[in-house]
Amino acid sequence: MRPHDIVIAGGGIVGLATALQLQRRNPRLRIAILEKEKLVAAHQSSHNSGVIHSGIYYKPGSLRATNCKRGYDLLLRFCRENGVSFEICGKIIVATAEGEREQLDKIYRRGIENGLRGIRKISPEEAREIEPHVRAVEAVWVPQAGIVDYGEVARKYAEIFQKNGGEIFTGQKAKAVSIVRRNAVPATHAGGTAFRHMNDGVVVQTQNQEFEANIFVNCAGLYSDKIARLTGEKPDLQILPFRGEYYELKPASQHLVRNLIYPVPNPNFPFLGVHFTRMIHGGIEAGPNAVLAFQREGYSRWDLNIKELAETLAFPGFQKIARKYWRDGWAEMLRSYSKRRFVLALQRLVPEISAEDVIPGRSGVRAMACDRAGNLLDDFLILTRPRIVNVCNAPSPAATASLAVGETVAERVLEMMNDE
Ligand SMILES: Cc1cc2nc3c(=O)[nH]c(=O)nc-3n(C[C@H](O)[C@H](O)[C@H](O)COP(=O)(O)OP(=O)(O)OC[C@H]3O[C@@H](n4cnc5c(N)ncnc54)[C@H](O)[C@@H]3O)c2cc1C
Repeated sequence: MRPHDIVIAGGGIVGLATALQLQRRNPRLRIAILEKEKLVAAHQSSHNSGVIHSGIYYKPGSLRATNCKRGYDLLLRFCRENGVSFEICGKIIVATAEGEREQLDKIYRRGIENGLRGIRKISPEEAREIEPHVRAVEAVWVPQAGIVDYGEVARKYAEIFQKNGGEIFTGQKAKAVSIVRRNAVPATHAGGTAFRHMNDGVVVQTQNQEFEANIFVNCAGLYSDKIARLTGEKPDLQILPFRGEYYELKPASQHLVRNLIYPVPNPNFPFLGVHFTRMIHGGIEAGPNAVLAFQREGYSRWDLNIKELAETLAFPGFQKIARKYWRDGWAEMLRSYSKRRFVLALQRLVPEISAEDVIPGRSGVRAMACDRAGNLLDDFLILTRPRIVNVCNAPSPAATASLAVGETVAERVLEMMNDE
């Protein structure tokens, strides 16, 4: 096969957005995406809450904050230009007890620092005007939050990328990556790739094919740490898979929620807490919780991959996390097995809801990078080495921010090519 300029492993929303941004900057680039599944966006990118995040929660100046803000604008423009349905419905973050006011205030001030316009603190009465069934002692109204189907967004990225000459190879699992030395090929060689092929290159081996390129980009989500190691990177981290399970409101109970209702997140726990989400194609979901998955792509409680679970349990960072968060982790685990406990968490936000109102729904697995010291990495992490870019951590809001993250990765790739 003719060499590509760039090979990307991972056809999730981040890999696809990266490909699109590279193609926009230089339409002559030959880009291939390798995706191990039969379809693109089969994992995190289509198993999420579908919320267009405003960027209220993230540390000002962090990659998450800056990419969320820029990604938000790029995503909305993309959806408008390409007929992808979305809705900016706004959300409320609700303090349900006096003790949560301080944390709610911190989030509000962070939103202001992050430049969010129109956010405001609201009284319980105002909260009930927005969400008539909510219980609040105080709330924050975030007008710019919205909803979209990220699976659909990702498939649209793929469609445009392919229409413009990009290639997606599905059913191709990257298994080995090596830097090879090869002879220089003049810029105007018969293949006519946009960039001069360099002396060295990268060969990506799948189960049955070899792909040659100048630059390799790893966007493998739940397996990004493993692929990074294949490239020679030695990141001091491991991906821990945290499953998020949802319930759905029965049609007769959907009047209890209009749009998006979030709790004040526990500052000691790195997840947002179970919330209510209206879905863009109809229906209301409640969730997701956060429980350790016994397999990286373990969507059900019964999915178990002994090797992957053993790797998780043996990782010193996980052991530290287990000690640090054991109380919250245990509560989440119980909630996973007990509908009654899950509903109790929902009742804090909407007291009228009962177990009869909800049925079990789908689930998703988050890729959370954890270092050896037991810190779940808060920010996006993109590591570069010669000819290689590894996207090692792209947690929420990476779907919202995908076009901005793609832009950042694309710029690093192009810098690398220009340096040759
Ligand atoms: C429960 C849940 C709720 C979330 N809610 C939101 C939300 O509301 N808003 C938001 O912005 N974000 C949300 N997120 C986060 C968001 O979904 C992710 O940050 C984003 O989808 C990450 O995209 P990705 O392309 O990095 O990963 P993925 O979508 O997981 O894509 C990685 C791809 O790499 C492929 N792959 C892996 N290994 C290989 C290999 N060896 N060779 C080839 N291909 C490989 C996989 O098959 C997969 O398709 C949520 C995530 C979860 C799990």
